[in-house]
Amino acid sequence: MPEIPELEATRGFFEDHLTGRAIAAAAVRIPVVFRTPANEFRETLPGDRFGRVRRHGKFLLFDLASGRVLAINPMLTGRFQYVEPAEKLPAKTCLVLDIDGGRSLRYADERLMGRLYLLPADGLAAIPGWAEGGPDLLDPALTEEVWLQRIARYRGGIKNVLVNAAFVQGIGNAYSDEILWEARINPFTPRTKLTEDELRRLYRAARDVIAWAIPLARAAMVKEDTLDDEERRDFLRVHRRGGQPCPRCGTPISEITANQRVTSFCRRCQPGLPA
Ligand SMILES: [Zn+2]
Repeated sequence: MPEIPELEATRGFFEDHLTGRAIAAAAVRIPVVFRTPANEFRETLPGDRFGRVRRHGKFLLFDLASGRVLAINPMLTGRFQYVEPAEKLPAKTCLVLDIDGGRSLRYADERLMGRLYLLPADGLAAIPGWAEGGPDLLDPALTEEVWLQRIARYRGGIKNVLVNAAFVQGIGNAYSDEILWEARINPFTPRTKLTEDELRRLYRAARDVIAWAIPLARAAMVKEDTLDDEERRDFLRVHRRGGQPCPRCGTPISEITANQRVTSFCRRCQPGLPA
């Protein structure tokens, strides 16, 4: 599942390559992922022009000159491509936008769980769950003090709090493991057992890990002026590194699967239950 580093890398790439460019043609290939009428994508996108590309939580937001926004949440398996039109189409390609200048923007989604919307710029609140979501992790308004106030409302294991979009948006299963390792906090520790000092350390680790990962994600996904965002996370230090030595202390990384979710951590750097 793409998280902030992959989505920021994708956002930055599209902002560099799409802003100011017009859409020449739009093809809707698999309608199920379109949550506003698919015919509007097909009929009204050609001739429109890209503005800024923004991100909110796990949504990429493509501003359009018409005053609308193309909003895409890739969920578990959505991926973007920006390639020559002759490149082979990935399986389950849902949307193809031919861009003036000769490239194609493609959205493909193996499990078809992603969600695409075409909405007026002031109409994003129509997206289910939009209004209930917490701040984006990189939102400048999410200061360390605001983080402390907000996190006090949540109980349960700290990893579950980090991936809860009502608390903060943009962190998923992989980067929560990286952040907790960086902060030296056991993922299963209840939030109520963490000291203020630990919660402050967690905030700084969250911001630091994401800042560290964005350029690495971009380097993994972008080749010259082509984007192919199949997830490549060879640079991660603990997530799915079970059995490999912890990069800090050398202890083999532990891996626990619960609720179909893998949690990787170092028992020495991140002591606590389960022992
Ligand atoms: Zn360690």
